[in-house]
Amino acid sequence: SFVVTGATGALGRLVIEELLRRTTPGEIVALARDRAKAAGLAARGVEIKTADYSRPETLQGAFTAGDRVLFISGNEAGQRLTQHRTVIDAAREAGVGLLAYTSVLGGPAATFSIAEEHLATEQALLASGVPYCLLRNGWYHENYTGALADTLRTGAVVGSADGGRVATAARRDYAEAAAVVLTGSGHENTVYELSGDTAWTMAEYAAEVSRQTGRRIAYRDLPPEQYVALLVEAGVPALGAQLVADADTGIARGELSATPGELSRLIGRPTTPVAEAIAEALKALE
Ligand code: NDP
Repeated sequence: SFVVTGATGALGRLVIEELLRRTTPGEIVALARDRAKAAGLAARGVEIKTADYSRPETLQGAFTAGDRVLFISGNEAGQRLTQHRTVIDAAREAGVGLLAYTSVLGGPAATFSIAEEHLATEQALLASGVPYCLLRNGWYHENYTGALADTLRTGAVVGSADGGRVATAARRDYAEAAAVVLTGSGHENTVYELSGDTAWTMAEYAAEVSRQTGRRIAYRDLPPEQYVALLVEAGVPALGAQLVADADTGIARGELSATPGELSRLIGRPTTPVAEAIAEALKALE
């Protein structure tokens, strides 16, 4: 079967959509910690199995021999290495045919905090002996367009990325790449550096929002401590705020700017331009 963990998250849902276009529902298994959240997927004929990365017993029976698995990284910072080891152990014991993991663009070259758990997971996966594929995903357009309401309200794009470039792609682009790897062949024991075809600066992003809205939107660069304070004020939990601001300093250093074109090669088309994602997000705000 084709198995997707974290199937009820934003990326997981898009991957299931892509798999449904490529194969039959009966071949797809969605792992979710919250079964109720997966009701929509079950209605499409996808098999749902309950699995929580923090509860090893729930991962027994989650995989079967030969499965081709997309392992979507968890979102509980600080707990992820332990959780991810549990998933890798269960996959190894079951004898899966492929374990594709959503890591971070650049791998060991990424020195910001969020990358640490990804790198440790990559190492655990390599040490496990399970056939692997590292999907080293760059940032999503949605990390930025998701904040467009605030951007328009305040008239500013805010961050600590300075003049650094970030090679974003649509979450859907990464989802399609994952589905290509799962349903394709020859991806065992490979590493993909996945990113958008174009890397842009925050100032360029603000200029594009200005162009599309006819409003004057500027990029305001803040020292990381001030950006953290602003995020916390806006309701972001402290740890999350720190990780976001710290990742921005990684962007300032150019660590999320690589454009090797591996994502567009895998999906067989150019990646979605950020301008298109902005237009889509603006439409959704109307
Ligand atoms: P989401 O937060 O939407 O999805 C995360 C998924 O992981 C959810 O399905 C969630 O389950 C699941 N999950 C978290 N903890 C556990 C657990 N203990 N047991 C089982 N499942 C768990 O993120 P996205 O889908 O947008 O992105 C996927 C991953 O990529 C993120 O989890 C994060 O690691 C990383 N990421 C990458 C970004 C990028 O720009 N490249 C940006 C943000 C995150 P549930 O649905 O029940 O909450």
